[in-house]
Amino acid sequence: MHRSGAVMAWNVFKFCTALRGLGSIMILLVLGVVGVTYYAVVLTSYGPALYDGGLTSVIAVAVLILFHGLLVMLLWSYFSVVLTDPGGVPPNWRPIMDEERGEGDPLTGSDFGVSPADASKQRVRYCRKCSQMKPPRCHHCSVCGRCILKMDHHCVWVVNCVGALNYKYFLLFLFYTFLETSLVTLSLLPHFIAFFTEGEIPGSPGTLATTFLAFVLNLAFALSVMGFLIMHISMVAANTTTIEAYEKKTTLKWRYDLGRKKNFEQVFGTDKLYWFIPAYTEEDLRRMPVLQGLEFPSKPDLDAQEF
Ligand SMILES: [Zn+2]
Ligand SMILES: [Zn+2]
Repeated sequence: MHRSGAVMAWNVFKFCTALRGLGSIMILLVLGVVGVTYYAVVLTSYGPALYDGGLTSVIAVAVLILFHGLLVMLLWSYFSVVLTDPGGVPPNWRPIMDEERGEGDPLTGSDFGVSPADASKQRVRYCRKCSQMKPPRCHHCSVCGRCILKMDHHCVWVVNCVGALNYKYFLLFLFYTFLETSLVTLSLLPHFIAFFTEGEIPGSPGTLATTFLAFVLNLAFALSVMGFLIMHISMVAANTTTIEAYEKKTTLKWRYDLGRKKNFEQVFGTDKLYWFIPAYTEEDLRRMPVLQGLEFPSKPDLDAQEF
């Protein structure tokens, strides 16, 4: 399959391409991990502990409320990433060619194809595979087989591209997965320690094996998601996507870096109540063209922006 040099160099992307065949099996895998964890935490550990009385019951109530609350947010964010179109280029899209926007994209003219007609200008990016012009920060995904607006990466866990329209949902999915897996790891830790220190522990071999598996899986996810989350927080703060962070040779003059607060708002919106849920307010969607993934305010024309 023909791919551009830039995409070939992107290792994670190649990994994703190799896993293309897995498709929706990944969704079943995620739900399987949730199922095993639910069985271990709710059905065999803290559910029965509700009837023990005293402090044990109080702790069980707290763990169960927190566990279910985080699980709802996790699944809501997860299916929002899976089901939301990351953003495609509208048919017959044309760049706004005025003086201000004639600055050109820093990525222009590198490994990206420029149509012969536009070669002299070296400003408009063009996708040969889609035979269309590319808006700023848009990249072609060889897994999806189309151009994705403000593409971050193609994620196998969500069987979808992560782009302009679902990046916030993806970050919330990471955030709630980190909190949930950390809670599960801590709440199953006493059982895990008892497994190795006490000779006689209650429960069938199947129950013990499930608890053991849930602990190991959640610990592994908590640690790996934490690293991923820290990486994405730093990229949101600098207003770069994973692809841009990889391609950017210098951090000196990144035209989309408007300062941490504005960079954060460009992903999460301006309404604090909506920062923690996978949705945007109607007003933000109307007021911030950046949320549609076609126009991005940049340093040179910062004064012209309303927000
Ligand atoms: Zn394309
Ligand atoms: Zn994709």
